[in-house]
Amino acid sequence: MRSKVVVGNWKLNGSLASNEALLKAVLREIPRQSPVACVVCVPSPYLAQARELLDGSGIGWGAQDVSRFDKGAYTGDVSGAMVAEFGSRYAIVGHSERRSVFGDSDAVVAEKYAAARRAGLTPIFCVGETLEEREQGRTEAVLARQVDALMQECGVAQLEGGIVAYEPVWAIGTGRTATSAQAQEAHGYLRGRIAAQGKEVAARLPILYGGSVKAANAAELFAMPDVDGGLVGGASLVAEEFVAIWRAAGAAGR
Ligand code: PEP
Repeated sequence: MRSKVVVGNWKLNGSLASNEALLKAVLREIPRQSPVACVVCVPSPYLAQARELLDGSGIGWGAQDVSRFDKGAYTGDVSGAMVAEFGSRYAIVGHSERRSVFGDSDAVVAEKYAAARRAGLTPIFCVGETLEEREQGRTEAVLARQVDALMQECGVAQLEGGIVAYEPVWAIGTGRTATSAQAQEAHGYLRGRIAAQGKEVAARLPILYGGSVKAANAAELFAMPDVDGGLVGGASLVAEEFVAIWRAAGAAGR
């Protein structure tokens, strides 16, 4: 049985005041113990605030990216160890916005994954195709390229204890969600690709869906056999929506 996870990705949003209001509202609804993990990935300056508000609660916290380097002359970067020092247990790597806006290549993303692991963090490794790639029938080839780059750099064993997020680029922040069948097809493909190198690792690996997940569509997506929860952007900024999505993961119960 795989663990279920719902992760909020706040992106470049928040302030001390609005974070506090949001986290306090979510905290009221999430119990200390649950079979469905609830996590928020906040902008790095707010990791201290996340620790202050969430320590001892049922909500985990993490960063949205980490440096591929551990230390040194890399102005602007934040290392995995720095993120971990604030009690974080998670870090997103390879989000499509990092890939497309900041030029993170497959190789760089794999290095970031390895850096997060070195720091003892659970990396949330994002993959997904653009609309053009889907329309050209290249979805599986793109997913294969992205996940193979990771397995080549780190070895399949490093996926044990990690998390994969399938996020079709055309569904992120667009309001256009993949159908549950499209999500299942991609998740099944990813699990099979990983299973070819590590059957047990693949069977235990949580694969989350991300791309315009809302309370209204979460239950249908999470009912799919290879969808183990969600990576949630916009809706994670609205407490009731985020909590309802987290509840839908619990209700999907497999
Ligand atoms: C994301 O940021 O990973 C994401 C899926 O965003 P949204 O839910 O807003 O589409």
